[in-house]
Amino acid sequence: MDNIATVRARSLFQKVSNVVSNAEAGMRGDKPRPLCCDCGIDTIATDEWYMVNDKVWEQAWAGRRRSQDVIPGSGGLIDEFLCIGCLEKRIGRTLCRTDFTDAPINRFPNNSDRLLDRLAANVSHLLAQRPTR
Ligand SMILES: [Zn+2]
Repeated sequence: MDNIATVRARSLFQKVSNVVSNAEAGMRGDKPRPLCCDCGIDTIATDEWYMVNDKVWEQAWAGRRRSQDVIPGSGGLIDEFLCIGCLEKRIGRTLCRTDFTDAPINRFPNNSDRLLDRLAANVSHLLAQRPTR
């Protein structure tokens, strides 16, 4: 029969094992990461974690949602992440102050330089069309 110390040790070992396997799964990419849907960068690792107004987000996603992207069992939720550059490319202009919600996440001090720039910008600039060959 196990004594209390053995049970505690086993329980602690189990907890540590869970933490380690979660971390390993994260590194292998088994766990969902907030990857930009267009360029694939990790939007948390690059400090581009923000919230824009629904109007801007809907414009960026219009006609791009695919039923196969729905998270199973979520009731219709789709993993939708875009880095600042890819969101701007989709809407054809740079973001500015009024595009963001007043969510606390937008005041996170470690935001990327370009996110901080857009959060403070008073005006939006149209993006130049890429030359096609
Ligand atoms: Zn991107």
